[in-house]
Amino acid sequence: MSRFDEIASRYDVVVVGARAAGAATAMLLARRGLSVLAVDRSGYGADTLSTHALMRGGVLQLARWGVLEGVRAAGTPAVRRTTFHYGDSSVGVDIRPRDGVDALFAPRRTVLDALLVDAARAAGAQVVHGVRMTCLVRSLGGRVQGVELESAAGGRRRVRADLVIGADGVRSRVARLAGARVERLARRASGVVYGHFAGLEVDGYNWHYAAGVSAGVIPTNDGLTCVFAAMPRDRFLAEIRWDLAAGHRRVVEEVSPAFAGRMARAVKIGSLRGFPGEPGFFREAWGPGWALVGDAGYFKDPITAHGITDALRDAELLARAVATGEERALADFQAQRDALSSDLFEVTDAIAGYDWTLDEVQRLHRELSDAMKGEVQALLALDAPPSGAAETARRSA
Ligand SMILES: Cc1cc2nc3c(=O)[nH]c(=O)nc-3n(C[C@H](O)[C@H](O)[C@H](O)COP(=O)(O)OP(=O)(O)OC[C@H]3O[C@@H](n4cnc5c(N)ncnc54)[C@H](O)[C@@H]3O)c2cc1C
Repeated sequence: MSRFDEIASRYDVVVVGARAAGAATAMLLARRGLSVLAVDRSGYGADTLSTHALMRGGVLQLARWGVLEGVRAAGTPAVRRTTFHYGDSSVGVDIRPRDGVDALFAPRRTVLDALLVDAARAAGAQVVHGVRMTCLVRSLGGRVQGVELESAAGGRRRVRADLVIGADGVRSRVARLAGARVERLARRASGVVYGHFAGLEVDGYNWHYAAGVSAGVIPTNDGLTCVFAAMPRDRFLAEIRWDLAAGHRRVVEEVSPAFAGRMARAVKIGSLRGFPGEPGFFREAWGPGWALVGDAGYFKDPITAHGITDALRDAELLARAVATGEERALADFQAQRDALSSDLFEVTDAIAGYDWTLDEVQRLHRELSDAMKGEVQALLALDAPPSGAAETARRSA
């Protein structure tokens, strides 16, 4: 484990934020031989706001990086079925073994983020927690050339780097200091209240929808189940935030009286957490000496439970671009990120509006599923040989 006073004065890359996006990017860059420092103001293995469900693209990334074994070893239950409940009717979807993924997983962030940090360190990246990036260092011409860091004890350090990557979440300080423009903004936002419960037997992911509300049931580590209740942001602000427990109970009851009956016998472990909602956005993903990855560059409403999956996808796309050593590859990274995210972003915004009928939200889920398939195909194509090479290999086999 590295300490603040072991931070050197220069690296190829400094990554600010060391969770899904930052730790994964640091790991991939270190595996490509770059010298990497990643810092995070929070602690190693600390929890964060998230209902932590992974989709196929996210699990695929963890599998190809060798991190999925750790997720399984932590006792994270395999999810082999997703059930969508629309009022009283249900549609079940089996998770078919495909593309190296035989199940989905929803590891707690205390588990997942720590595993990614371990993998980054094993690859040679230096990851230091309890350290805050306070300022960007710039050349006279304005190019970002490093960061200023502050330890929890008040120590200060200036570190130079060829590239500073902001993986510092929705309110990214790197984005703000670099002047990254917001290029696209969502119209809607949903509020969420969630908690973890013991004593709930569930089969895989369950997503419940009823007029103006939704809920998600997500099995996770230690025999617990994460249950979230979601609603339009305005309702969260006007009613739910004042009493999260009553709000959670009320919305789950509105979504499914039958499930609410089961919830009444479950035991809440830890506190409920609330999120008032935040409209999604795309920010510019790069500029001279800086780049953004994960929520720092692209955020969408959590209702489609896809932020971590996209952070793991974009860590790979960004690391490949950086490894070329050419700044214009960062423009390609942004173009790829935007192309792969556009449909997901739109359909998420539509679901987060809560102005659908149950038939309409079902159609939106089919669109979401198509967008996710496209994302998985794009990830698989990253390691596919170029079509000419595949043909040569086939002929010589
Ligand atoms: C209520 C809710 C539920 C969600 N549920 C899901 C879900 O079920 N599935 C899913 O895939 N996604 C979900 N998401 C989204 C998901 O949590 C995010 O997309 C994901 O955490 C993004 O990862 P990240 O690494 O980009 O950023 P973060 O996880 O936000 O990490 C950023 C890190 O940067 C650090 N940092 C910030 N500023 C500084 C600084 N100046 N110096 C040093 N460190 C700094 C922070 O301490 C933090 O650790 C949910 C989000 C919310 C709000």
